[in-house]
Amino acid sequence: MRTPFLFSAISVLALAPVAYATCPEHFSEAAKARLADSVEPEAPARKLNVVYFTGNDNEPIADYQRRISELLLYLQQFYAKEMDRHGYGKRAFGLNMLPNGEVDIILIRGKKGHKEYSYGSGHNACLEEINTYFDAHPDKKFSHHTFVIMPTHYDEQYGDSNPGGVPFYGLGRNCFALDYPDFDIRHLGQDTPKGRLLTKWYGGFAHELGHGLNLPHNDGSTGMNAEWGTPLMGSGNYTFGLKPTYLTPSSCSILDSSETFAVAGKAPQFYPDNAVEPTVERLSIVYDGENLNLTLRCEEDFCVNAYIQDPEYTVNRDYDAIAFLMARESDGKGMQTCRVRMPLSELQRLKNVRNGEQAIDLLFGKPDGSRFRTRIIFNWDSLKPGDSIPVAELKFRQGY
Ligand code: ZN
Repeated sequence: MRTPFLFSAISVLALAPVAYATCPEHFSEAAKARLADSVEPEAPARKLNVVYFTGNDNEPIADYQRRISELLLYLQQFYAKEMDRHGYGKRAFGLNMLPNGEVDIILIRGKKGHKEYSYGSGHNACLEEINTYFDAHPDKKFSHHTFVIMPTHYDEQYGDSNPGGVPFYGLGRNCFALDYPDFDIRHLGQDTPKGRLLTKWYGGFAHELGHGLNLPHNDGSTGMNAEWGTPLMGSGNYTFGLKPTYLTPSSCSILDSSETFAVAGKAPQFYPDNAVEPTVERLSIVYDGENLNLTLRCEEDFCVNAYIQDPEYTVNRDYDAIAFLMARESDGKGMQTCRVRMPLSELQRLKNVRNGEQAIDLLFGKPDGSRFRTRIIFNWDSLKPGDSIPVAELKFRQGY
């Protein structure tokens, strides 16, 4: 009877998840449990700059190195697993690690009082001082992407149970989030006041970092959301940690060309100043009564996404843009044909479908991270099955 027992013991061992790295001993039990099924992200070529920024009159929140390290490592796992699920390998934003297993979080104390770095426009003074720091310490600048975390203000409005007052948004390749004493992974997923508060601020932390890594807002199709939950770059900042939250195929395709996701040995020079917009040929959008069928030709190094959304764009009104990643087929001569079928049944949440004006945004991204966006507006009221949507000359803007 010994042999079968041994055999089964070995089988169980082989099936058990193997954490790629042992959690540092001083990490919390909650972090050790959360990171127990960690996958090893592919070795990054570039890394995210993580900065903890205070004014000259306030202090970092206690134990920030351990708490933020745990939260960043768990978030890195989320990105790595989502990228892997979408076929890009276990890739995530790179982090510079310290010998003690924590993330290298650069502490910068500002020259002014903390109120000078408040929500609204405080990011300008903050980024100026961070740039001065990087000029003096070029070895600490690992990429173009910087994640800035500031401690909550304490005043009549803000405090431990209602943190805030500091910048909290993505701004190009920089993004801002906040810290407070209960910003701790041990509250993750708990339906308690501290758990819900954590989802609000950790979901926001994860979402704003997405912006800082080049991601625009986007939502999944009806079917995708039914299967996977809420996209992080849609309203996933309200669900992360509490309910299923995911990255759309579109978001992963964009991260594929984001600097800190580049794998060692495969990193081009990112974000060139002289990026050239795509040459788009034979753009056709045909309505067949059930679907919008979009095809175009462009240079073969562009990855193209089509976003369907309401046309009256204002900041933060595009969370519901439904994203479709276009299939690509190279002609072997430097050009490619891109195609996508967008079933109306997958667009049910959009208020304008089949009624009034609708926008289709086309997002073109290159492996070096250069990005262009253009918009086509059409009117459903004048569209009958079999019609093609007329497209005027495309005007591009850089970035997403
Ligand atoms: Zn956002």
